[in-house]
This record gives sequence, C-alpha cells and structure tokens, in this order.
Amino acid sequence: MTFKDLGLSEDLLKAVTAMGFEKPSEIQEKSIPDLLGTEKDYVGLAQTGTGKTAAFGLPMIQQIDTDYRAIQGLILCPTRELCIQIAKEMSAYAKYADGVKIVAVYGGASISDQIRAIKGGANIIVGTPGRTIDLIGRKALKFESVSKVVLDEADEMLNMGFKEDINEILESTPAFKRVWLFSATMPREVERIASNYMEDPIKVTVGTKNSSAANIDHKFCLVNGRDKYFALKRFIDHYPGLFGIVFCRTRRDTQEVATKLMNDGYSADALHGDLSQGQRDAVMGKFRKKTIQILVATDVAARGIDVDDITHVFHYDLPDEIESYTHRSGRTARAGKSGISIALIAPAKSGKIKLVEKQIGKKLELVKAPSGQDICGMQLMKLIKNVNEVEVNEKGIAPFVAQIHESLEGYSKEELIERFVSVEFNRFLKAYEKAGDINVDPSKMRSGRDSDDRGSSRRRDSGSETNVNRVFINVGKMDGFENKGQLLGFICNQAGIDGGSVGKIDLFDSFSFMGVDEGVGERLISAMNGKNIEDRDIRVEFSQDKPQGERSGGRRNGGDRRSGGGDRRGGGGDRRGRTSSSNSGGGGRNFRERRRRN
Ligand code: AMP
Repeated sequence: MTFKDLGLSEDLLKAVTAMGFEKPSEIQEKSIPDLLGTEKDYVGLAQTGTGKTAAFGLPMIQQIDTDYRAIQGLILCPTRELCIQIAKEMSAYAKYADGVKIVAVYGGASISDQIRAIKGGANIIVGTPGRTIDLIGRKALKFESVSKVVLDEADEMLNMGFKEDINEILESTPAFKRVWLFSATMPREVERIASNYMEDPIKVTVGTKNSSAANIDHKFCLVNGRDKYFALKRFIDHYPGLFGIVFCRTRRDTQEVATKLMNDGYSADALHGDLSQGQRDAVMGKFRKKTIQILVATDVAARGIDVDDITHVFHYDLPDEIESYTHRSGRTARAGKSGISIALIAPAKSGKIKLVEKQIGKKLELVKAPSGQDICGMQLMKLIKNVNEVEVNEKGIAPFVAQIHESLEGYSKEELIERFVSVEFNRFLKAYEKAGDINVDPSKMRSGRDSDDRGSSRRRDSGSETNVNRVFINVGKMDGFENKGQLLGFICNQAGIDGGSVGKIDLFDSFSFMGVDEGVGERLISAMNGKNIEDRDIRVEFSQDKPQGERSGGRRNGGDRRSGGGDRRGGGGDRRGRTSSSNSGGGGRNFRERRRRN
C-alpha cells in the first residue's frame, strides 16, 4: 500500500515524500481512507510513535477549504510540548497545500502573539485545553465553522483533569462537526466522551486495546531499593549506544538520580516540575539534539515528549497509576523502530508486575542486572567495532605518524593491542572490579498488589510518630478526595513537596490533618493559603492537638470552613484537580491533576 493508494492529494503526497516517508504506517493505512471518504466520527486506539499525527493531520489538511477564511479544524492535545510538535509536523505536511494556515495555542507563551496569529487567518488550531478555553473566553477563538475536532491523547488529557474543559470546548463547536479521537488506552472516561460526543464512530485499533507497541521488549529487574541506582548504571554501561529516559515517581528522586548520574560522569539531566518552563525547554532541547544521552523525568514533566530514536525506557519505580506504564514505555519504539523498557523493582513492590502485565497484555521478562564481566565484554566489543569501522584520516595524522612510530617502537603487536584497549577500558575494569551480584532471587517476589500497597501505606502511617508537626487543611472528602492518596497527590502537586515528607493523613468529610516533616508545614502554609478550590479559599494551619476523630476536629476547625463562601454541594466529584491560584495572573487558570504525586 502506498500513500497514493490512500487517496491523498498531490500536494500532500509531495510533502510526505519530502519528509522521507516511504509507505504509510498501520494507523495511517487504516485511518486515512475513512477520514477522507466518510462523514463518520472516529476512534483510533494508537500509541504515540505510530504515525497518528499524519493519520489525522493529512486528511484534515486535505479537507480545508482555503477560500474560506475561518477555523475549520481543531486539534486538542494534553501538553505544550505535544502542541508545538503537532503544529510543526502539520505545517510540514501542509507545506505545498497552498495557504492552509496552522496556529498553535498553548500556555506559558504570549497570549497576545497567539491572538495576533489567529487573527492572521488560521484554518487549523492546535491547542492545549487550558489556553484554548482562555482564548474562547477572550472571544479570540470562535469555532462555529469547525467541521473536524481531533482529541489527541484523550486518555492523557483526562488524566490531567481536562475533562470539563474538553466538554466546554466541544460544546462551543457546531453540531455538524466530526470528532476524531485518538488514545493509547481506553479507560471508561474516554469511552464516556466517545459516547457523549460521537455517533456510531468507526473504531480502529493498532495493536491490542490498552496495549503498548508490539516492538517494545518489556523487562524487569529485581533489585533491592538500595541497589537500584547501581542497577541503572549497569544497564546504561551495558548498552553503549543507549539513548533513554529514566522515569521516577517523585521530583526529588528525579533530581537525585540525575545529579548522581551527572556526578558519575554520565551525560544526563533532569526534567521535573520544580524547574521553570525555560529550564525545562533547555533540557528538552538538549535531549532532542542528543547532547544528553539520558533524561531523568517525572511522568508529568515527560508528557508529550515525542523524541524519535529512544532506545530504552527505565522505570526507576513503577508508576502509581498503572496506565502510565503504557505511556512511559511508548516513548521508545517510535516510528516502527524497536525499543526496550526495563522496570527496576524491589521485591516488596513486585506485586505490581501482574498489574502491568494485565494492562499491556504481555508478560514482562525477568532480566538480571548485568555483571561486571558482561559490561566489560560489551564495552570491549564496542571498542573493537569502533576500531574496525573508524575512517582513518591519513592526511590529518600524517604529520604525527613518524613520531608515533618512534614512541611505540619497543612494543610488539600484542602489547600494543593490550595497551590501546586498556586506555579506553581500564575505567570499566576498575569500576566493576569488585562488583558483586546485586540481583535478588526471584523467589522473593510477591504475587499480589495488596502486599505492596499495604506496605507503603503502613510505612506512611508509621511516619506519624516521627513527623514533627501536624497541619490542618480545610479540604476533605466533600471536595472529591476519595482517599488519602488522592489528597496527598493534590497537596504534593500544589505545594511542590515530596510525598515522603508527609506522614499520617486523617481524611474527614470537610477537612483533614497531616503529619509533616520539619519545615514542610511552613511550605504548605505559604504555598496553599491563597489558592482556592472551586472558589473557596484553601486554609492550612498548624494543628496543636492530635484529632480524636471527626467530631472533635469538626468542632474545633470546622466552624469557619465555609469562610471562603464556596458551595460544596454535590460531593465535588467533578471538581477534581481544579484549583485556582490568586496569583495565577493574566486571567490564566491553574489546572493541575490531583491524582499524581508529581
Ligand atoms: P507520531 O506517532 O505521529 O508522533 O509519529 C512518530 C514519528 O514517525 C514522527 O517523527 C513522524 O514524522 C514519523 N512518521 C509518521 N508517519 C511515518 C511514515 N509513514 N513513515 C516514516 N515515518 C513516519
């Protein structure tokens, strides 16, 4: 099958040829004819890296009427990075499609520049939900002529708390529009969007539902927590051409692992929410250009990273939400290439492996952290390969040859080989000279997930004895927090603190208490006071006494909980993840997800 067979116009065929695409990918083959030839809604289950941008982008561009100066296509995606990338890719496809204008709108960039670009005559808008809503509010974006709406990475958008925004944006588009939804996984929430906004959609799956790309090797390595970093280093040393991402659960771990790698001489850097947008852009720029070999990132910060040629994804910890595993590992094996995903797992957490396997529909293969000998062997073979393949610049070295011969005269061929190899190689021999086996016996694995989760909550609870302070916060179950983990995730997100610094949590209907490490209470108070949750001021303060239960806590602290004037009707189920900050500035809204920790 060729691109021509799919029914694409000459302009677009010229563009895909210029981009070096030889034949359509599976999702393109399966989608483009339908998206061009029918007026039906569409659901595509496909991972990032499968070529889905072209799958929806080419048909969308082809159906734009450039005589008509109006927005006809809208593409919503979860992150700024992805938004920029889609717009760039779409512009390349539209290069020869005379006059099709594509404008990207996303947060963290000048809104007036974006308004100017829209006024310049946009045919297709690529936007993140938050900024799109902002621009609708400012009447800069009007969607009454939009005939195609793409929801890209729909599962990620919902994960990030954009459900209401998506609904609001879709409501602002005309009834005649078609919706094309793309998602790597199909959780119930995505299905709900499909049933609310689509009529009998065409469904196309690449790979199996919720699964990861077929060309990813999923592995796990059983090591004790204290040996994880060493195991990671061993894998990195074992794959000399590695270009990869290490995912960590918390910002603190992310920074720590990245700093350790840098100190140990690896070409690495960190990407997490404590960095400014400028810093994050700089790190991403380096990673895209492959100036850094290893990116250490949190799930949230790494969203929308679509960099080709990533060979390895490491899970320093498995994610809290198992679905994130699919997204993480999908960062490798893009554009038909293959990739390796390796989870470093402590025995106490090994119950989660089953959940991952269920999610991706595949078994994870147990692999051992390479031994010192394995690593030295790999590095040696790489050196020999380089020697075999190197292009000798005879002219360049000519002035030095006589001197080199003279200096090395006394060595035999064997001695020379040994010496040259040792120059490159002693570093590894020394590093792994005394390296023992850090692999844990698989018989120590746990079988159920409960063991793991109970373990961690026990540890968290036992932290209450050691946490020096307790704080009160006037949010609770009525704000939509169904469990302590959700509240913890919310607090960590909002205040930028690490989950490990919070101990026992008592979650009540309208308020909660938390044990916190020294200094953390002050940070919570300064970060959270002034924010609001559904128009109600959040209040955090130190608590003098330990609560005996909700009643006593309620009497003491509950009296003024409505002081912010908010209305808590309805249990707050839909309010999840939305707060606004009094200092968010520029009319921008502050959307955060609540469920994750970083
Ligand atoms: P996507 O899944 O849209 O993010 O695409 C992943 C990568 O594959 C991007 O770098 C695309 O430019 C590239 N790509 C998309 N379609 C093709 C194709 N048919 N042949 C080769 N590369 C492609």
